[in-house]
Amino acid sequence: RLSERLQRIAERVPSGGKLADIGSDHALLPAYLAINGTISRGIAGEVNTGPYEAASKQIEQSGVGHKVQARLGDGLAVIQPGEVNVITIAGMGGSLISSILEAGKEKLSGVELLILQPNVGEEFVREWLLRSNWSLQSEQILEEDGKIYEILTAQPKQLGASGDGLYEPFMLNGEISVTKQDLLRMGPYLLRNPNPVWIRKWESELAKLAQICRQLSRSEHTASRQKEQEIREIMQHIEEVL
Ligand code: SAM
Repeated sequence: RLSERLQRIAERVPSGGKLADIGSDHALLPAYLAINGTISRGIAGEVNTGPYEAASKQIEQSGVGHKVQARLGDGLAVIQPGEVNVITIAGMGGSLISSILEAGKEKLSGVELLILQPNVGEEFVREWLLRSNWSLQSEQILEEDGKIYEILTAQPKQLGASGDGLYEPFMLNGEISVTKQDLLRMGPYLLRNPNPVWIRKWESELAKLAQICRQLSRSEHTASRQKEQEIREIMQHIEEVL
């Protein structure tokens, strides 16, 4: 049985897909998708030997060795261009996810779908997608065991297609101006269709930022003052949108 988080990721993998799960740890996701027949082929990529061995063991124990292979290597280095059409990268920070994608850009030819689940720093992932011509298709948010997770999916932008307007600034309720930065930070779909989990997430982020400001305000350094001011501006944007 998968966690709710992995289950929600699994549901987004298309039937017949050739999947690379990067940072697969125990290979739970590709093993599950191979057992239930969703994927035709899977690669569980791991940079660390401990998780790589755990992945190999899981694949063997699940009896899916004919379909799924564990590979040791950094990010997308474990795949050849054209080898897979779906990539999942889950359970790590958004800046690490975006650096893995950036470092392995040439491996993305033939990839039709990215399913990304950053634990924090979702805006780094959205920024990378935007600047690398991937179109954000969906955003999901869920809460499990007191933690909140976002799942983002993206497809290559069609050549010649115009910008989809997702990140165009707009007026909310005729009075609040939502900026591109707000949309990158809080999610263009989630922000337009707020749900209780998303609101809880941003209320808790506000509380964390307020705490950081309290600490910074005790410091005499000009740099701390500047940082505090920057955070207060971000907080104001978040408060307005909520
Ligand atoms: N994807 C699984 C999940 O969502 O449950 C496991 C997440 S686990 C917290 C993150 C895994 O990413 C670790 O096993 C770590 O070794 C691996 N990892 C970190 N950086 C990586 C990289 N550059 N390339 C491949 N794997 C990486």
